[in-house]
This record gives sequence, structure tokens and C-alpha cells, in this order.
Amino acid sequence: MITVEEARALLLDLVEPLGAEEAPLADAAGRVLAHDVAATRDQPPFAAASMDGYAVKSAEVERHAMFKVIGEAAAGHRFDGVLGAGQAVRIFTGAPVPAGADFVVIQEDVNRTGDLVTITDAPGDKPNIRPAGVDFRVGQTLAAPRILRPEDVALLASMNIPRVPVRRRPVVALISTGDELVMPGETPGPDQIIASNTFGLKALFEANGAQVRVLPIARDTRASLTTAFELARGADLVITIGGASVGDHDLVAQVAGALGMEQAFYKVRMRPGKPLMAGRIGDMPMVGLPGNPVSAMVCGYIFILPMLRRMLDLDPGISLCEAVLSAPLGPNGPREHYMRARVNDGQIATFGDQDSSLLSILARANALLMRPPEDPARAAGERVRYVPI
Ligand code: AMP
Ligand code: MG
Repeated sequence: MITVEEARALLLDLVEPLGAEEAPLADAAGRVLAHDVAATRDQPPFAAASMDGYAVKSAEVERHAMFKVIGEAAAGHRFDGVLGAGQAVRIFTGAPVPAGADFVVIQEDVNRTGDLVTITDAPGDKPNIRPAGVDFRVGQTLAAPRILRPEDVALLASMNIPRVPVRRRPVVALISTGDELVMPGETPGPDQIIASNTFGLKALFEANGAQVRVLPIARDTRASLTTAFELARGADLVITIGGASVGDHDLVAQVAGALGMEQAFYKVRMRPGKPLMAGRIGDMPMVGLPGNPVSAMVCGYIFILPMLRRMLDLDPGISLCEAVLSAPLGPNGPREHYMRARVNDGQIATFGDQDSSLLSILARANALLMRPPEDPARAAGERVRYVPI
């Protein structure tokens, strides 16, 4: 059986970064920038007032100085003339500073009577002007790759980039398998349960940049599974859930094999999630996740998210956080163990029952505490590592 790390490396070998496409700026948030993008203009494009007041010459600014107001500059409406000695232009925030002016006396510091303004309060040294290009200059770039945050989208807008080069979203086809499964909202028979991890995984993958196609549930027959694989064609990754052990009804490996799957591995030294399988059917990567709901979700975090990140050209590494154990833990066995846990204020506590069918406990957890294989018993107060979820 291979280690978690070996499995992850083999899985990453199955995928590569997808191509780029253009997204309208309004839909770009959350996408991954595919190429560096350069500003097409300076921002601001002109020296602009940062306060409401009077534009004057700085050399003339002192208390009690008096100016003649010769015009007005508002945002979107510049003053066309040139300011001379002893003159002022009424100016508002965002307006271009008139030629000849290099200082804005704020309106709170003046007294105006008719066309005359007098500086009544000490105006200070701050000119209240944003120089042209102070935010960014034409040609300045936003570097790829990066997940575009709302702040990045605002910057791109300001750079006048209406269409943004982004990585294509990985299309993931999800196949649930099992005679016992029905879709949420259907009426289950007495021996049936609701397909749950299908929806958990869809949510997890979509929150991480994928586009998920939930295929009809495959029954535990070769014909049904074969049909499901056919429906998956064209996806960047096909994932089956369940049917991956060696029970009589576990047909995924058999059917995938009949469709020509080259198996990369089967079984990982891990808890939960041992019966993981992966390979390639034609040129489509395939991963078979275990059916137990918690195993499937944990494998989603530990194995599938790195694959999605590679396809999105992001760093595929898993980043572990550290916290202090609030209660002792017994020794770990030979498999890397991801334990549902709760982190609060730097302290981490695992849940008592770690059975891999218990979604209610997974839903209460906000961390997967990672125990390396053969990790000795740990005392309260020791530092341990976890994956935030
Ligand atoms: P299997 O790997 O098919 O033997 O499934 C292991 C366990 O997970 C069984 O109890 C299944 O009923 C359950 N299971 C399999 N697939 C799903 C699913 N999509 N949603 C919820 N439970 C599932
Ligand atoms: Mg099954």
C-alpha cells in the first residue's frame, strides 16, 4: 500500500494545467488569473483634488492670503484656463487640478465673500492633490496566477480590463454508485439511504473552482456503471463514489478496467479512505473514492483539491496549520489518520467517535487533525498539525 504523499504525487501526475479563456470582468471574481494583465492607463489619469476646497499656487498659501475665484472644477468637468497669481479655482474631490495650481486649500480653512476667498485657518503642508499615476501607471501588472478576489476585480476594472484571461474551470463528473442510494428529495425504500457525499463533494469542488456534473446514480451492475462512465465523457476528471472495495457488488475497478483504465494505484495507507483508486481511462483521469461519506469528503480535501489546484495552475500543496492538543491522544497505527476535530483559539480537540460513516460529526468539525503513521501517544499541550475544513 502506498503512502498519502505517494498517492498525491501519482494523482497530480494524472492532470495538468488547463487552458485559458476570457471571462467578463463581472464574472471574474473567484476565477484564477491566467496571464499577467497590464494597466491600459494611469490612475488617476490627471492630478486630482483629494478634498473639496480652492485650487491655488502653493507659494501663495499663508494665513490671511486673499484670492480671486475665477472658475470651478468638478469631477468630470475640468477648468480649462490657467491659474494666475492671486487667483483660485473652486474645486471638488476628484476634479482635475487646473494648470498653474499645485495646492488645494480645504473649504473649512477659508472664508468666501462673493468672488473673494481668504485663508482663515493654518492650511498645513498637505497639498490635498493626488498626483497623476499615484495609484498605478500604464503597463503596471497584476501578476498571474492568483485567485481573483473582489479587490483584484476592482483593480482590474480601474485598469480598464473588461475581459479577463482566466484558467478554464475543471469539469468534474461525479458518479455515485450503489443500489441503496436515492437522490435527496426522493422517497427511499426501506433498505435505501440518501446519496449525501455526492452533494458534499459537489459543494467542495465548486467552492474550489471546479464545475461539477452530477451524473445519475449508477446501480451495482456493470451495464449501469458503464453507462455512467459514458455519460462522463468529456470531463477533465471523473470521480466515482463507492463500489471501490473488493465486495461482490464493488464493480468500479472491474468496469473501469473493461473500459481500458490504466491503474495508477489502488489503496492508500490512510484512515479514513483506504480503498482509493486512480488511473486514466483513455485521456480522462479517473479517481474512485470510497463510499463512506466521511472517507469520501476527507479524500476530497486531501487528494482531489490538490488535483483541482494543479488544473487551475495553482500551488497544489496542502498547507497544514498547527494547534495545541487540549486532551491526550493514544498512539496511531500504521496508517496516516485524519481525525475530525474542532480548533478553537489555537486549541484542538478530536471527537470521540471517528467512525467514517458519521457525517454529523464531520459537520461539527472545522479541522482534520493529521496523525502521521505510527505517531506515538501525545500529551495535552503538544503541538499537532491539522488541515482546516
Ligand atoms: P461502498 O464503497 O459502495 O461499499 O460504500 C460504503 C458505504 O458508503 C456504504 O454504507 C454505502 O451505502 C455508503 N455510500 C456509498 N456511496 C454513498 C453516497 N454517494 N452517499 C452516501 N453514502 C454512500
Ligand atoms: Mg456500494
